[in-house]
Formats: sequence, C-alpha cells, structure tokens
Amino acid sequence: MPHSQLRIAMLSAHSCPVGKLGTKDTGGMSVYIREVASELGKRGHLVDIYTRVHDPEDRQIYELNQNARLIHLRAGTEEEIHKLAVYLHLLEFVSNLENFRKQNNLHYDLIFSHYWLSAVAGIYLQQLWHVPHITMFHTLGAVKNAIRKKNCLIPGESEPEFRIETERDLVQKCHHVVVPTEREKIELIRHYGALSGKISVVPCGVNLELFKALDKIQARQYLGFACLPHMKHRGSQSNNDKIILFVGRIDPLKGLDKLIEALSYLRHIKLRLVVIGGGEHSQHEIEQLRKLACEFKVQDAVTFLGLAKYEQLSYFYSAADVCVIPSYYESFGLVALESLACGTPVVATDVGDLKSIIRQGKTGYVLKDNAPYRLADKIDLLLSRPNTDTKSARLIRETVNKFSWSDIAEAIIRDCQVVLASHRSSVS
Ligand code: UDP
Repeated sequence: MPHSQLRIAMLSAHSCPVGKLGTKDTGGMSVYIREVASELGKRGHLVDIYTRVHDPEDRQIYELNQNARLIHLRAGTEEEIHKLAVYLHLLEFVSNLENFRKQNNLHYDLIFSHYWLSAVAGIYLQQLWHVPHITMFHTLGAVKNAIRKKNCLIPGESEPEFRIETERDLVQKCHHVVVPTEREKIELIRHYGALSGKISVVPCGVNLELFKALDKIQARQYLGFACLPHMKHRGSQSNNDKIILFVGRIDPLKGLDKLIEALSYLRHIKLRLVVIGGGEHSQHEIEQLRKLACEFKVQDAVTFLGLAKYEQLSYFYSAADVCVIPSYYESFGLVALESLACGTPVVATDVGDLKSIIRQGKTGYVLKDNAPYRLADKIDLLLSRPNTDTKSARLIRETVNKFSWSDIAEAIIRDCQVVLASHRSSVS
C-alpha cells in the first residue's frame, strides 16, 4: 500500500451510522461518519467503522464502498439500549474489536473516534495498538449542561457528572481533537482545559449531489402535500400555502416547542409547519408537542410526518418556503447546509456554525435566541418575499458550494497525516 494511503479504525460505539436518521440517537454524527468514511474510501484510504450491534437482524458487515465498510460488534445485548448503558459494555466492545482485527489480520494506522463513549474505547485501543487517536465529540456534556442551567425550563435530564469528567480526561489522553466550529474549540478550552494546539477546526459538509434545488410545485406534488389531513380540513390550496420545515431529532434541545409557539404570531398567513424526524421512541415527545400546539390553537397548522429518508429530503427542503432551526444547541447544524443546498432559506438561532453558514438577510436570518416572537418576525419576513424562483434558489445554493464532503474529507486526511507524522517522530 502506498505510504499516503491510511488504514483507519473509526469508532461509533453507541450509534449505528447506518441506523435510521432522525431517531433519538441517530442524526448528524451518523451522517458525518457515513459521508466522511465514503469520501476517504473513494480516495483509496481503508476505513473500518466499528459500531455495536443494535438489532439481532444486523448484518455483521456493510460495505459503504470498495474501501469503506461498517462492522457490527456485540457489546451487551443485541438490542437498542440507553446510550449511557453502552458505557458498561465498552470493554466487551474493545475486546470483540480486537478479536475481529486479529482474526482478519487487520492493522490500522490510526483511530478516529466519534462521541465520548467511542473515545473511551479509543483510549484502550491506542494503548493496545500504539497508534494515534483522533476524536470528535460531536456534542459536549459541559456545554449541554450550561445551556440547561441558563434555560431551566428545558425538559429532560442533564448530562451526568461522569460524562463531564470523562470528557475532560479524554481531551488530555487522546492525541488530537477535531471540532466543527471555532465556538466548540473555545468551549473545549474553557470547560476542559484542552490545549489549543491539539485542536483543529474542520467544518461539516453537505452532499451536494443529493441535496439539490428541485421545482417547488413538483416537489410538493411528489410528496402528496395536497393530501395532508389538516389541509383538507382547512380547505386550502396547498400549492399556494406557505410551508415551514423542521428537520431533526425530536429532542428538547432542538427548541421545536418555540417554533410551534411562534406559529401563534403568524395567524395572518396561510401556512403549515411540516415536522420531519422522530421514530417510535419519540412518540411521547411528539404527543407533548401536539398538546402544546392545541394550547396555542395552531394544531391545524402542524403536521408531524415522522422520519424521512435522507435520500428523499431534498424534496422536503425544496417544497418548503423556509426551514427553521430553533435549537438551543447544535454542534454544527447540518440541516442548515442541506436546506441552503436545496435553495431554501433558513431561520435559525445562533448555535453551531450557523452564523457563518447563513448570510444575514440574504439566505436567511440568525437570531440571538429562539424567542417565539423573534422566530415569527423573521419567518414572516421571508414568507412575505415574492415566490422564490430558480435563480434565487441557485444563488442560495452557491453560498454552500464550498462545504462538499469531498473537501471536508481532504481536510480530515491532512489532519490525520500531521498527527501521524508527529506521533511517529515522538516514538522514533
Ligand atoms: N435526518 C434525516 N431524516 C430525518 C431527520 C433527520 O435524514 O427524518 C438527517 C438530516 O438530514 C441531517 C441529520 O439527520 O443530516 C441531522 O443532523 P443535524 O446536524 O442537523 O442535527 P444532530 O442530529 O446532529 O443534532
């Protein structure tokens, strides 16, 4: 194998990268791993992604492409378990990974772990294999807790202290940390005392082949939006109605309740909010949101469509007039890139990298927080613009052309090579 081609063990212990996107624990990180691994594979690097078996029906090996594959390993039961419980099975995960590696005579140049649970497994493996370990946290426990402290009404549990302590320790022990934003770099330094030189900022990307601007009317027809129950009930002409889109996991930190409340300020517009995301484990949260919609008397304007296939999402983004990201926290905010790539403007809170992705007043608005009246104001502004045409969709898309996964993978490989070179010189 040529020297420049790398053999990478990627770890995604708790969440399966080929799992259903938009469910409780499967979202942006899974997209990141699939896309980056595929791009690295296309460049001739060999990537094995290790994840825990979540379903007895899981095949052991999935090929992503010629050089990238996903390998399921048993850790604990063969079912979905709470992600914190995965911590208890990490040693079994590592030991099964090592057995698989030996049986198949595999050797890796480096480890690339995702999320703190995988980073814990990565620490065991870096000691066993004497190879460098790069990690990406995707979310930081300390930041989540700080947000919950500031917004004490957000439902749900705070992150346990042992996650915070473990993340602090991981930052010291692994060789390098990749973060998607300058903001996360600052948080890593502030909360965990990370060394600046150990961190590199590489943004996330968007699949520009998949996420394309389609004709709005055709996209709506394809999705059968005219047939949505509440539209019939209201007797509206669906193709003229404004569509607000939310795409994401149904998680209190996504602030969907604030968006539902925002609809109560928008009664003068014929609109509907289409919510994409949330699997069988999100039914309780969806019920609560439905109740909230009733309290604000906007229930007829909200449709929960459940999970949508990643490959189908460009229809939803193209059918929408605006996509809203009312989150309290995003590590990056892939949905914004996807929507813009489809030519649809975005209204979002100032989280993740959204301030640098969205061009204020041109491709959408970034707000200082998710206060419903603030969201409503900017949604109203965008919805009252004349109907967007192909040219304006193209101009919006052009602003995200630089975020192709191919460029992101190149940046990751450059980081891997620097870390590898410095590791080799430190042990020689
Ligand atoms: N997604 C999907 N189907 C759904 C809901 C979400 O494919 O039903 C995808 C979405 O397109 C995006 C990812 O899940 O690529 C969510 O990533 P984001 O960074 O917005 O949020 P995170 O999950 O990291 O909080």
